[in-house]
Amino acid sequence: MKIQEADAKSLLLAQGLPVPAWEVARTPAQAREAAEKLFAAGEAGVVIKAQVLVGGRGKAGGVKLAGSADEAQEVATRILGMDIKGIRVRKVLVAGAIDIEKEFYLGAIVDRATRRIVLMASAEGGVEIEEVARQNPGAIHRVAADPHLGLLPFQARGLGLAIGLKDPLLSPFVTIALGLYATMKANDADLVEINPLAVVAAVAPDGSATKTLVCLDAKITLDDSGLARHRQLESLRDLDEEDPSDAEARKLGINFIRLDGSIGCMVNGAGLAMTTMDLVKHFGGEPANFLDIGGGARHETVSGAMRLILSDQNVKAILVNIFGGITRGDEVARGLIEARAQQSRDVPMVVRIVGTNAAEAAQLLAEAKFETAISLDEAAEKAVTLAKAAAR
Ligand code: GDP
Ligand code: MN
Repeated sequence: MKIQEADAKSLLLAQGLPVPAWEVARTPAQAREAAEKLFAAGEAGVVIKAQVLVGGRGKAGGVKLAGSADEAQEVATRILGMDIKGIRVRKVLVAGAIDIEKEFYLGAIVDRATRRIVLMASAEGGVEIEEVARQNPGAIHRVAADPHLGLLPFQARGLGLAIGLKDPLLSPFVTIALGLYATMKANDADLVEINPLAVVAAVAPDGSATKTLVCLDAKITLDDSGLARHRQLESLRDLDEEDPSDAEARKLGINFIRLDGSIGCMVNGAGLAMTTMDLVKHFGGEPANFLDIGGGARHETVSGAMRLILSDQNVKAILVNIFGGITRGDEVARGLIEARAQQSRDVPMVVRIVGTNAAEAAQLLAEAKFETAISLDEAAEKAVTLAKAAAR
């Protein structure tokens, strides 16, 4: 689950990372109010940033500075009316504008290859890290945290040195890197990115001028499977930006991933779903989705899943492949019959149900005049033929 910059900043702040204060505004008037407060507190300028779950907002014109409350309102009006990479901007973050001396990149990911949390840093900050990886991979430095010991201060220090940091920036960098690691662990995050990690002027305790680092942008992806351990994070889900079919699948408790083929697949079990997709391809078709309705699915789940499949206008045929273990074949058959009675458009369907209560299922399906198949090969081949005939 991706969360908005403002929420990501809250999670960073909770681990003690330096993040300039911000407010979120949904209207130009609210943005103006937030800016007025910042100017009254002595800020010379404010930054207005589109809150959308995509990167590259700056390049797209979604990050702008303003020097007065009037200008803040005007900029917010413009950004709140924008589309960024197809997503409508519904809210903006308002914060004091920072004078940036230099931009660094600092991120953490769960690296599947090493099975560790890996921190990545680069002196080429501000630009998208994918771009740096393509153009100049040597500019990205990495260090893996030990799963038992965690990220150790000397490792964070080594990473800071690798990107060219020296006193007085090294010590804040170590604190931030350790805080970033703590943010990953505390929230079961898959990814935490600070880009830019900005060098800014600061005042040392003795009153002299110095420099420090602040987190100006934050991007966090939470591990969906970890959310059960962090109920409070569920409230950070941005329903404004969630694809309706993803929301529906979540409510139904099924795994649904839309693809671009023409054959809708309904299967129980992830491995079986992949096998089914392979066979669809083998017979010359293209699956329209991956769908695992899970074990023990009830008829409401089946009919809900069918609605999801049919909401994709590219679907020309449907292949149902159920291997009944805990899932009862007759329950699935009832769901299919219920779904067909309600469905908005008529799409040819092939059903294969084996295992628990397969005989009862076969009887129900025969009475309702469904097209059925015994083997998976036969079912997949039929579905491909039906899709091709429907596309003609
Ligand atoms: P992104 O483009 O979606 O990654 O959004 P960012 O928050 O990273 O903003 C893009 C760029 O805008 C940054 O790399 C900075 O150069 C600039 N920026 C963001 N916040 C500030 C700020 O407070 N002051 C200044 N001067 N520039 C900022
Ligand atoms: Mn950024």
